[in-house]
Amino acid sequence: MHTLCLDIGGTKIAAGLADPSGDLVHTAKRRTPAAEGAEAVWDVVAAMIADALHAAGGAVGGVGIASAGPIDRHRGTVSPINIASWRGFPVRDRVSAVVPGVPVELGGDGVCMALGEHWLGAGRGARFLLGMVVSTGVGGGLVLDGAPYPGRTGNAGHVGHVVVDEDGAQCACGGRGCVESIASGPSMVRWACDNGWCAPRGAGAKELAGAAAAGDTVALAAFRRGATALAAMIASVGAVCDLDLVVIGGGVAKSGRLLFDPLRAALSDYARLDFLAGLRVAPAQLGGTAGLVGAARLVGLG
Ligand SMILES: [Zn+2]
Repeated sequence: MHTLCLDIGGTKIAAGLADPSGDLVHTAKRRTPAAEGAEAVWDVVAAMIADALHAAGGAVGGVGIASAGPIDRHRGTVSPINIASWRGFPVRDRVSAVVPGVPVELGGDGVCMALGEHWLGAGRGARFLLGMVVSTGVGGGLVLDGAPYPGRTGNAGHVGHVVVDEDGAQCACGGRGCVESIASGPSMVRWACDNGWCAPRGAGAKELAGAAAAGDTVALAAFRRGATALAAMIASVGAVCDLDLVVIGGGVAKSGRLLFDPLRAALSDYARLDFLAGLRVAPAQLGGTAGLVGAARLVGLG
């Protein structure tokens, strides 16, 4: 029996069918109508569920939901920052109503990404793992002692809002000096523009990486600055959780060594304690499907 999995974000919604080994035998993706009302967003989810059920021949063994946060895993509700009309939206009950009689599990997208990479990606074999996405934001989730660690409300591992500069710039969360406000793609691009990088119109992390690869000194400095902020956060979280591995995915991580080389160099400066000597950082392997795979795994772990 297949597991139906959903990955709900502010930009897109993905659905899939996973077989028991985690292979996705059906996937679909649609734009999130994030500016529309709650029911318009739900209609997209419901249509994708109907398509996936059809592809599964009408029955699935369970449903796993990865959602952008914050979430409340006890109530089964979600309030994604980038879906304004979903505030305390009862996504678990709504999914249960259209797929009755099977387990429905809800997790944060960061936890699901980490769990997916732990199961079938770059995190295989790790016991204490932080999975991270560095793209338009910085997100993450924890797998501790081999099991997903949701925390009290389901939001543990929200590492984008670890403060790395106590006098830093305002962050979208309302705080300031968060690693996301320095190391997200838009933050790095903004810093580069403020410091003299002549960005092409509409430039993002990809264009910044292109400029850095071509030797642009401001673009290289932007990557160094972002990577150093990430390293400070990773050293801190690594010390708190006694991690053995950090897996990093997302658009900014696609720049490869431009990010990972300065990140590893800064990490070796910050993470000096003996027990952190084995802390490794690796690129994610599953790409955009890690959240779906992890959501399916949530159901398997029950
Ligand atoms: Zn923040």
